[in-house]
Amino acid sequence: MNYKIALIKGDGIGPEVVGEAVKVMDAIGEKFGHQFEYVDILMGGCAIDAVGKSYPDGTAEKCRACDAVLLGAVGGPKWGHSTDPDKRPETALLSIRKDLGLYANLRPAALRPALAESCPLKNDKNIDLMIVRELTGGVYFGKRDRYQTEDRGEEASDLMAYSEKEIERIGRRGFELARLRSKKLASVDKANVLETSRLWRQIMHRLAEEYPDVAYEDVLVDNAAMQLVRDPGQFDVVVTENMFGDILSDEASMITGSIGLLPSASIGDTAPGLYEPIHGSAPDIAGQDKANPIATILSVAMMFRYSFDLPAEAKAIEEAVDAVLNEGWRTADIAKPGEEVIGTVKMGELIRAKL
Ligand code: NAD
Repeated sequence: MNYKIALIKGDGIGPEVVGEAVKVMDAIGEKFGHQFEYVDILMGGCAIDAVGKSYPDGTAEKCRACDAVLLGAVGGPKWGHSTDPDKRPETALLSIRKDLGLYANLRPAALRPALAESCPLKNDKNIDLMIVRELTGGVYFGKRDRYQTEDRGEEASDLMAYSEKEIERIGRRGFELARLRSKKLASVDKANVLETSRLWRQIMHRLAEEYPDVAYEDVLVDNAAMQLVRDPGQFDVVVTENMFGDILSDEASMITGSIGLLPSASIGDTAPGLYEPIHGSAPDIAGQDKANPIATILSVAMMFRYSFDLPAEAKAIEEAVDAVLNEGWRTADIAKPGEEVIGTVKMGELIRAKL
């Protein structure tokens, strides 16, 4: 098959980690007989420098002409202070998610067997869960206000709203993903307090009747935060609204060790999906061959699985990563004191060699 992939290398370590991921894609292409065509797209701080805008005109159209988007990371201290939205790298991230209709954010948190000792939890080393976060609704997108009151001083408000349609489409994603994994779904809400959560729960229960093969449970968000550190192995797929997902997915990522290992996917109802490591542009180590490319390489595995329906290719990448880690190879972020450390390029080469 032929696939066209938009590459948004971005800033800081973005170009370095995407470079290694592209070489892995090419190796998969050779092994499985696929052709990958790459389209470079300028976005983020580098786009501000080149054309004066972090999200140049036509970016979404160029991405839509591709089958999937691979993003490194955008941003850095150089562009951190502007109040002009065009000159802020984060504007590009929000815009592309909105323009491509990417309402579902998939954040796996799996503890790689070779790195079990880097898990800060004492007992549960069997962690392999996926958080499905609603990405385009809720309080982050609701009406904001700030006003003066007569007797209480200044007041601010952020509106949290969810429609039946928004809940149903993300809920369905959760059930469908649970079917692809171990057929277990936890839906996280705050239905004892919030009206949006009561609607959320009502719709999730309606969907649960359509998926009788999936073991479904409701979990209150405060309990979910506690259970994630008490016994994360109990979870498989967890679906939740935007803000709860933002917080819980960061919590889940910490229990697996390094930020340099974790991929993510943002998908909508139509192509292309967007795949990126969860880390940022790491300006402190940019350009020094120190960044761990594994999170970006595993993002490519997610692209194969969720955008191209190529599970064997995805598994080949994941197994190659585990094989290299099992042999003891470590970049600085995952090395223990005294362990030999390798760089970005060498880690990429070793993973490719396993393919
Ligand atoms: P960060 O994730 O870039 O870095 C946090 C720490 O983790 C740093 O010490 C960094 O060196 C380390 N780290 C990150 N990725 C690594 C990797 N692959 N290998 C080894 N070590 C790694 O977060 P930050 O420092 O808060 O943000 C830096 C910039 O990135 C900011 O401008 C921020 O806005 C941006 N950012 C972008 C995205 C994105 O593009 N999606 C996400 C988060 C942050």
